[in-house]
Amino acid sequence: LYVEHPLGAGQSIPLTRDQAHYLFGVMRLGEGAAVLVFDGRNGEWLAEVSEAGKRGGTLVCREQTRPQQNPPDLWLLFAPIKKARTDFIVEKAAEMGAARICPVQTDFTNAERIRRDRLQAHAVEAAEQCGGTFVPEVAELARLDRVLADWPADRRLMFCDEALSGRASRLGAFFADQGARAAPWAILIGPEGGFSEAERARLAAMPQAVAVSLGPRILRADTAAVAALTLWQSTLGD
Ligand code: SAM
Repeated sequence: LYVEHPLGAGQSIPLTRDQAHYLFGVMRLGEGAAVLVFDGRNGEWLAEVSEAGKRGGTLVCREQTRPQQNPPDLWLLFAPIKKARTDFIVEKAAEMGAARICPVQTDFTNAERIRRDRLQAHAVEAAEQCGGTFVPEVAELARLDRVLADWPADRRLMFCDEALSGRASRLGAFFADQGARAAPWAILIGPEGGFSEAERARLAAMPQAVAVSLGPRILRADTAAVAALTLWQSTLGD
């Protein structure tokens, strides 16, 4: 169970209404029951239910069961699409071990705003589901040109481009070649309408950016995100 309250021996952890409903209503736990919790920073802890109510409750943190384990430093940048597909991308990125998930507004993205809190909740659920101790941060929606203007000098940007052809430009080949290099990485996936010429020119001029292909078929943006994350996870993931 993910809790926002920082964990440590003897800490009392207040439960939200939803957490109380899940633990006491759905899982039918009572006072004294053991629960494994994590806060995304201090590893996994064994906690005990000290108070169980319909609308809330309290856990007491006993001992650490696993140390904190953070994934390698991969960011996923993607242009938000339809709500359900955006939810899917965030969930899969969290499962696949992205460290940071950044929705970006591109020239051909319609999204004016996103529900960051909802997307963050999906990332939490995905982290709970895969038994990790880390929850990726979902960033606020930002314009791609602004994000690129502040791009860190040492972070490689894998710009997924369906217009590329040839096996040499495939992302899998790139990761396999560069496998030994411990650089921070990012993957950029465009919207349904693809990137504009201005965005392509901007990316081509960035020394950190590398245009890569995911194969000869044009994939839907959510498929492309999962394909790119899978290739990264299978070669460089931890
Ligand atoms: N507008 C484009 C078109 O119709 O030609 C298609 C955009 S595609 C649906 C959405 C995004 O997925 C692209 O911007 C790209 O980042 C990624 N993508 C899809 N297929 C890809 C491929 N074969 N190689 C690399 N990236 C791909």
